[in-house]
Amino acid sequence: MLIKNNQYNIGHICSTLQCEKGFSEKVAFKFITSKFQEKFYTFKELDSYSNQVANILQILDINKGDIVFTFLSKIPEQFFIFLGVLKYEAIIGTLFPNFGEEALYDRLSDSKAKVLFTKKSLYKKIAKIEDRLTQLKYILIVDIDEDISGKVLSYKKLLNHVSDKFVSEITSPETPSVLHYTSGSTGKPKGVLHLHKAILMINQTAGEILQLNGEEKYWCTADQGWITGTSYGIIGPWSMGVTQLHFEGTFNMENYMRLLSSEKITIWYTAPTLLRMLMNGEDDFYKQFDLSNLKYIFSVGEPLNPEIINWSRRVLNKDTYDTWFQTETGAIMIANRPGMAIKPGSMGKPVTSIKGEIISKSDLREEKINTPGYLCLKKDWPSMFKTYLKNPEIYENKFKGDHYFTGDEAKMDEDGYFWFIGRSDDVINTAGHLISPFEIESALLELPEVLEAAAIAVPDPILFEAIVVFIKTRGNDSEELKLKIRLYLSNKLSTVATPKEVILTENIPKTKSGKIMRRVLKAIYSGQDAGDISTMEEF
Ligand code: AMP
Repeated sequence: MLIKNNQYNIGHICSTLQCEKGFSEKVAFKFITSKFQEKFYTFKELDSYSNQVANILQILDINKGDIVFTFLSKIPEQFFIFLGVLKYEAIIGTLFPNFGEEALYDRLSDSKAKVLFTKKSLYKKIAKIEDRLTQLKYILIVDIDEDISGKVLSYKKLLNHVSDKFVSEITSPETPSVLHYTSGSTGKPKGVLHLHKAILMINQTAGEILQLNGEEKYWCTADQGWITGTSYGIIGPWSMGVTQLHFEGTFNMENYMRLLSSEKITIWYTAPTLLRMLMNGEDDFYKQFDLSNLKYIFSVGEPLNPEIINWSRRVLNKDTYDTWFQTETGAIMIANRPGMAIKPGSMGKPVTSIKGEIISKSDLREEKINTPGYLCLKKDWPSMFKTYLKNPEIYENKFKGDHYFTGDEAKMDEDGYFWFIGRSDDVINTAGHLISPFEIESALLELPEVLEAAAIAVPDPILFEAIVVFIKTRGNDSEELKLKIRLYLSNKLSTVATPKEVILTENIPKTKSGKIMRRVLKAIYSGQDAGDISTMEEF
């Protein structure tokens, strides 16, 4: 039973409860470093180490409901801190380790975060913005022995002063839990707030879709900076006592194949970009790896091309199942799954208890079969986000009646399968990471050389979409400037925000009201007809 004595606390359920169920000595995760050193952590250790984190927050006088972030790579502390913060009933946010200083500043300042856990190598980025983060009380660095200042403390030292016992208070289902920032089409990224009861839906879908149960050996490759990394790289599997693999290293075809084989992974949750990179070898290359334990491959984040499904069937002799969800939905909403015929190219059908609908773009009624429209979900479900932090009106705008508008467009076929068409906004999906053109353009306008900037998505064979930026300069066009722009975006925002191409142009097409006409830029880029440009400024 997932909920005992009305205790919805995610941190408690994923560690203490698993020990109470008799899994104390069971391996919660095997950690493999990028240099292939290995360490095992049991549920008992997960429980004790996360208790220490809760006790650290207590001695630092942090309040329940305060926002605490991690800015860490995939290292064991990431998991202990995540669960410990939740046990304490503070809100946990996770920051993608490739973020640059501006992306970090936006999120930490917007959320008024009180504590940040990081490591020495990543602290360098924080040090550059620390003075501007006036509300941040403590920065705890996991791998230094001595405090740097009254604010920048050694986490290791604090660990020596705290007990590994902590009793989580009975946490109501409505208590805020996890915070992830996501990009919309306008404005800066917004904080998507979830509640402890989200665990109900995450647990349900981990079983119903991912087929997890206590016996599986599971590997989710998503970084904990994103919703998949927390919902299905922490909460789902540990809410059911599943042993996970966590690998610190980055993608490499041989290493990944070797891990799937030597770790005897039974269920693998990954992303199309990674699978497309994995498909790069000759068919014979894969024969050296014994994948007899691997039952299923699941994918999320971008459309799963039929070619991947065909390749995994032909070369790996496995099925790959597409799943669809978003930061806002907190858990898988639409999916293919074992036991249901896969229609390659379709995202599958809604999970039990979820009703998906296609709503007409013209009259907002339910759309006919096989006709594109807005992808909507009937509210609500336990992992539905509670709000956009400080943006309740944008939250309200996502709903009409009892429909939640996902921001995607899709169609539904006669068998109830959903087919992804695209976003209904300008948000760019590169390698499964959402980036708003607005974020990129705002960052670019801070460069003295840049007069106007526009960012668009272009199709990419590996990344699904790549970023292309158009720049109108102050007359200083040069190849060096293009390089500078690419580096600048990578450092300021994130490595994933690095444009594939920088195009210097005399003019950026805009509507008469000054809105950038991305449609026209996309057409120009691909050499197609730009269509109706009647609202366009002369250009
Ligand atoms: P995020 O909130 O960052 O997790 O991104 C969610 C968005 O990623 C969705 O609204 C879709 O646009 C896209 N996405 C996620 N999963 C899929 C999928 N299986 N197929 C197509 N697009 C997807």
